[in-house]
Amino acid sequence: MLEDIDHDVFVRIQTDLLVVGDSIMTDRHHASNGNYEDDDPQNQIGGIIPAFSLSGWLRHGMEKVVQERGGTACHPGEANANFRKDGVYNRDLDAGYHPKGDCLEDGNGCVILDLFGGFGNRPGKVMRRPIQFSPVRSSVDYTRGQAEGHYRRLNRNVVSRNPEDNREPLRNAELDAVGNFDGAWHLSFREIKPEFVALLAETIDYLDAHKTDFMHQLGGARNFGGGIVDCELVNPFYNETELRRVFDRGKGKTQKMEEKDDEWADEYLPEFKSALSARVEAES
Ligand SMILES: [Zn+2]
Repeated sequence: MLEDIDHDVFVRIQTDLLVVGDSIMTDRHHASNGNYEDDDPQNQIGGIIPAFSLSGWLRHGMEKVVQERGGTACHPGEANANFRKDGVYNRDLDAGYHPKGDCLEDGNGCVILDLFGGFGNRPGKVMRRPIQFSPVRSSVDYTRGQAEGHYRRLNRNVVSRNPEDNREPLRNAELDAVGNFDGAWHLSFREIKPEFVALLAETIDYLDAHKTDFMHQLGGARNFGGGIVDCELVNPFYNETELRRVFDRGKGKTQKMEEKDDEWADEYLPEFKSALSARVEAES
């Protein structure tokens, strides 16, 4: 069964507003020819959502899924002295984490370590790519993990709270944001295991169901509504034409796509989920 699954899978990500710290990389200087205006609707600025933010969001969701299944996940931070001192580390160990890398002592590492790597330079088995976005839908190639997205620069005035200052602006904070984002996040398994596929599928469902939870929002600026993400694993059996069709608002699923959905949900996913249950149980 596993041999039927492609090593490349796609997650559909849709959000009204995404603010990824200050790390959205854009081509605005290049695209605007030096005449860039922040609020010009004509600007054709594209950019990149870095893999780092996406990866953290996915990992945190996966940790939760493993924990809800009764397992523990590798702690994302190193167990160094400073980290241990403040009590957070021990609190985390009581709340569903084991010290990073401990799972290697009597095994091959937990499923989280297996997927994300990172202990003693072990490579993770899932490669997370950045998402390239463009405001011009016709130039977006979803089969290459791209998205439609509209770059915005948000201005936030930080005003003085001192009454004598008459709410005088103290500074003007500018944030890079992407609005009306809809695209495909491309993940590649370097090695594929049934429990990896199940964990990914379950996590994307979990993140979609918990999209408004503060801790499962993507990127920064969550206090003003950024990073609430609708997400869905695109059926790994879809071919490229079908993958493109997912993003075509004018078209629904073909009958063939419906058949593939049934096959995926009824025949494949339950089998993969049993593998995940067995692995989490064996590791806890
Ligand atoms: Zn571990």
